[in-house]
Amino acid sequence: MQGNCIFCKINAGEIPSATVYEDENFKVIMDISPAAKGHMIMLSKRHCANLLELDDESAASALIIARKLARALKEELNCDGINLVQNNGEASGQTVFHFHIHLIPRYDNDQMSLGWTPGKYEDGEAATFAAALAARL
Ligand code: AMP
Ligand code: ZN
Repeated sequence: MQGNCIFCKINAGEIPSATVYEDENFKVIMDISPAAKGHMIMLSKRHCANLLELDDESAASALIIARKLARALKEELNCDGINLVQNNGEASGQTVFHFHIHLIPRYDNDQMSLGWTPGKYEDGEAATFAAALAARL
């Protein structure tokens, strides 16, 4: 628990939340300012700022839980699509520095924008990046 962290306070029950799911690694709540109705966020139980700091056990269970939630969203809302969004660092749009994953229901023509302008690599550049990154794993 980090003293002033709003998500730690939600995990501890000090700040109320509309809770969907909870286990030893995650608490899942409705986002208070949803991109669309049904927007949920999965908060790690252990405080860490972002994915780079996430413990192995939480990392391993995260996608299993996200898949359950995605199926529930589809069944309950009959949405056409679902985005998983996970921001790391201010530059990425992260505003709460406690690891979380967004699940956002999407609809055909909902006009939501989560996109980017597709870029380009020069010849051989993608392979250079791939090799440099692979060497760091
Ligand atoms: P991010 O920009 O990825 O850091 O997202 C933080 C998210 O937390 C935003 O979508 C906020 O709406 C959401 N949020 C902040 N405070 C609360 C809260 N008390 N209860 C539920 N969601 C919250
Ligand atoms: Zn925290």
